[in-house]
Amino acid sequence: MTLADVKQYADGTVPSVGGRAVVVGGSMAGLCAARVLTDAFDEVVVLDRDEFPDGPRVRDGAPQTSQPHAMLEAGRVTLEEFFPGFGEEVRAAGGLKLDMSKDLAWYDQGGFLADAEPELPALYASRPLFEQLVRERVRKLDEVQLRGRCSLIDYEHDASEGRVTGVRFRDEDGTEEVLTATLVVDATGRTSRTPKWLESHGYPAPTVDEVMVDVTYSTVRIRRPPEARSGVLVGPEPDRPRGAAMLPIERDRWEVVLQGMHGERAPADRETFIEWAEALPADGIGRQVTESEWLSDIHRYPFPASVWRHYEELDRFPDGLIVTGDAIASFNPIYGQGMSVAALDALVLHHELTGGLEGLAPRFFARASRPVEEAWRLAVGNDFNFAGTSGPKPFGTDLFNRYVARLIRRAQSDGALTEAFFRVFRLERPATSLLHPPVAWRVLRPRIGAAIAGARGTARSSAELSTE
Ligand SMILES: Cc1cc2nc3c(=O)[nH]c(=O)nc-3n(C[C@H](O)[C@H](O)[C@H](O)COP(=O)(O)OP(=O)(O)OC[C@H]3O[C@@H](n4cnc5c(N)ncnc54)[C@H](O)[C@@H]3O)c2cc1C
Repeated sequence: MTLADVKQYADGTVPSVGGRAVVVGGSMAGLCAARVLTDAFDEVVVLDRDEFPDGPRVRDGAPQTSQPHAMLEAGRVTLEEFFPGFGEEVRAAGGLKLDMSKDLAWYDQGGFLADAEPELPALYASRPLFEQLVRERVRKLDEVQLRGRCSLIDYEHDASEGRVTGVRFRDEDGTEEVLTATLVVDATGRTSRTPKWLESHGYPAPTVDEVMVDVTYSTVRIRRPPEARSGVLVGPEPDRPRGAAMLPIERDRWEVVLQGMHGERAPADRETFIEWAEALPADGIGRQVTESEWLSDIHRYPFPASVWRHYEELDRFPDGLIVTGDAIASFNPIYGQGMSVAALDALVLHHELTGGLEGLAPRFFARASRPVEEAWRLAVGNDFNFAGTSGPKPFGTDLFNRYVARLIRRAQSDGALTEAFFRVFRLERPATSLLHPPVAWRVLRPRIGAAIAGARGTARSSAELSTE
């Protein structure tokens, strides 16, 4: 499921059930869930073990907030539906709205993708800023209470009813507290303890797909001239398992991330960082990290594996509880999907709440598995281009990968293929749209035809990355 096949958020369609919902985890998934829960509940309490900061801050509870976060179209549009004016707020706070194709030089399969003709809008800002703006919109909702420095200890459970009835947690003062709730949402991310809890309370735990990718990230922030409003992305490839991105963000900065896969350790020191950047096949990043002022230390982050917990397969699950966001699935971050899938999960929750609370968990898990599956197939599918990737391989991956590799090479001279690819990458359209006849023809037709199309497309060279 992508933006193309999910109904928009619709105000006034969710019946009020009153009472209280508790969301554990106040990061992107928890905040989006809280937003849609306010349509049904009188009170929505969001607990997080971190303090809820007043400004854009990197948080210990979500340490990946120190790393660049791309906002895909599915996330951008969904957040705009939840929080009308969100995009404008990002811009007002210094973020950028750019054309993902024309303003981002995308290097893949030995060349830059040609420009797509239609505008492909995208928001660029740091992760702390995106999160801050969402948090402030949620904080303003009358029904919502954000409680920081509150750590979940356990769910309250009525075994005879098979129902979660609330949460026990350590509060701001270190005191143990219980909050009863009609619905508890686990949005605690990758380290969610719900699978263990289920097992210890006599429920089946979800089966887990784990795909080892062994990714490391190293990120710095550098000074960006205000007029330089472009970025660069170089995807890792099997014979060069090093990737990079340089994305413009607020306060006239670029975030520069270097990524290593399968044993390539992204650098920890400045000298090696520059060496890596200069060795990239696109010259813009190396030049900027050498010449521009560094505004941060190097922040490193290891990401061993993509993980999908299959809650949708369970035949028994307690009432009064659901799980969302990274706690269901977390994807190799180089594809930038997590925040968008978290927003789509909340959109699914919104639609399922229109049917009331009866049987909510199985309905929600079944529907939420669709955006997860779409994102998973894209991320994990591409990861299986690398010999070192291990884990369950989705059916048809190798054939599809060969087709996409050819599509990408053709997209270097055919902007229509760049558009088709980006709309899938941005979780706007399903991956099967790449097989539709008008696209497949451009991919598979004899080379002479592509050359004619190429004359129409706008090929890009790395010389365009100059800010001068
Ligand atoms: C290196 C890296 C780069 C990424 N880049 C991108 C990107 O470019 N684009 C993108 O869309 N996504 C990206 N992601 C993914 C993105 O960060 C997540 O998908 C997104 O934050 C949604 O996650 P979440 O809210 O489910 O969980 P998290 O963000 O992990 O938040 C979980 C929250 O739960 C709280 N918590 C945990 N345990 C408890 C407890 N016991 N009690 C109370 N609170 C608790 C934590 O403090 C935290 O606030 C990246 C991830 C990584 C690791």
